[in-house]
Parts: sequence; structure tokens; C-alpha cells
Amino acid sequence: LPGKKVLIVYAHQEPKSLNGSLKNVTVEELSKQGCSVTVSDLYAMQFEPRATRNDIVGCLHNSEKFNYGVEVREAYKRGDLSSDVIEEQKKVQEADLLIFQFPLYWLSMPAIMKGWMDRVLVEGFAHQFPNCYNSGYLKNKLALFSFTTGGSQEMYTKGGISGDIRYALWPMQHGIMHYCGVKVLAPHICFAPESVSEEERKEMLLAWAQRLKTLWKEKPIDCSPEWYFK
Ligand code: FAD
Ligand code: ZN
Repeated sequence: LPGKKVLIVYAHQEPKSLNGSLKNVTVEELSKQGCSVTVSDLYAMQFEPRATRNDIVGCLHNSEKFNYGVEVREAYKRGDLSSDVIEEQKKVQEADLLIFQFPLYWLSMPAIMKGWMDRVLVEGFAHQFPNCYNSGYLKNKLALFSFTTGGSQEMYTKGGISGDIRYALWPMQHGIMHYCGVKVLAPHICFAPESVSEEERKEMLLAWAQRLKTLWKEKPIDCSPEWYFK
């Protein structure tokens, strides 16, 4: 949809990876639609994933005993968060849609992306109890988790050896995005790209491009416990 703003948060070390190709397809397809697309290429940016004292510029709210959550909440109010965090928050604020593109690491996102969540989605900016879930501060935004796996689709079924892939999505989609008020579109999962033929990988990229063509018509998933665990 022309005019829509999209932020791609991308975590892969290798531009020639399938994740790199998926990211490129996203940029191309959405740009072609007239969307404005921004990419946070976390490894290329050498994004700092650690939540530390360095995230607060200047004096601490309580220098006797360090509490990261309290300190970043107060620093956010004063405009004293470190500049890399402020920059990411601006990108989030502007975006209508956040796309997270990554390889599955230990049934989760790579540490560098988890660090982005930890450091960017600060209390006061993204949420502040009781402003969470449907009243989180990032309501009216959409998120989509697009990732690749090592394991096959069969392994990731309910009765499969790894369990339903939806279990892994609970912390990301519900625990993080929904908590901040963001509505979630169905995830996009490319299973086991390393174990399939070149032809099948090309089809994976085509399928993603195809989905992007009608993405703005999609309805968010019902991001409640039933979606994951029923
Ligand atoms: P790549 O190896 O980069 O890509 C696969 C192939 O696609 C390559 O041969 C590449 O050349 C090719 N390709 C790239 N672009 C194109 C194109 N345009 N057209 C055709 N082919 C192309 N997996 C799990 O399932 N569960 C886990 O819990 C898990 N934990 C992990 C933890 C760690 C620390 C690590 C390192 C891996 C883990 N994995 C796990 C595996 C990981 O998820 C997969 O290795 C990863 O998802 C594969 O994606 P990739 O982009 O890195 O693949
Ligand atoms: Zn939810």
C-alpha cells in the first residue's frame, strides 16, 4: 500500500544467506508497492545487544543500586537514552509494520535481535503497566515474524520431536509484540532451507514475494493462548 512505512529488523551475518535473500525480496516487493522501507541490519550495525549502564547517558536515577528497568524508564523520560536506542525507537515510532527476519536459534531469535527487543522496547516508550497488550503504546502497528529453521516442518508439528512451532512464537508474538500493543500477522516460516533443493529455495522466495503482494489485506491473528496451545 503506497505510503505505508515498514521497518525490517534483520539478523543474519551473511548477505548471501537465505535470510539475506528473503530480506532483499521484502525490500524490493514493498518498495515496488510504494511503501517506504527501512532496514536495521543488526550485525552490520554491530548492534549492542547487552542491556547495561551504558544505555543511560549522564547521571543515574539511583546510583546506589542499579536497576536497569527503572533507569531506562527514567532516562527515556529525560531523553537520556543512548543514541543508538533512540534511533531505533524513532524507526519503530514511524513504522506501520515491523518485520523481523532471522534464522531460528534455540527455538528463539538470535541474541542480537533479543537484545534489540530488550533495549529498544523501553517502559514508557512501548508499554507501561497497565498499558500493555491491547492498550500497549505501540497499538495501531503490525508485526510479522519471518524466519528460517534447521528442522523440517514435520519435526515442528504438535506430535513431532520438536513440538509445534507455535510454541516458540508465544514469547515473541504474544510476550513481546502483543504486550507492547502491536497486532501480529501470521508468521512466515521457511523450513529447513539448507536441506532442500535450489529449486525449492527459489519457490520459498517466490512464495514470500507472493504473500507480500496482498499483505496489507491480511487480518492479524487472534493472538491469544488458544492460537498457540489449543
Ligand atoms: P543459509 O545456509 O544461508 O541458506 C540456505 C541455502 O540457501 C544456502 O545454500 C544459500 O546459498 C541458499 N540461498 C540463499 N539465497 C538464495 C536464493 N536467492 N536462491 C536460492 N538459494 C539461496 N534450527 C532449528 O530448527 N531450531 C533451533 O533451535 C536452531 N537453533 C540454532 C542455534 C544456533 C546457534 C544456530 C547457529 C543454528 C540453529 N538452528 C536451529 C539452525 C538455523 O535455524 C538454520 O541454520 C537457519 O535457519 C538456516 O537459514 P540461513 O539463512 O542461515 O540458511
Ligand atoms: Zn497475544
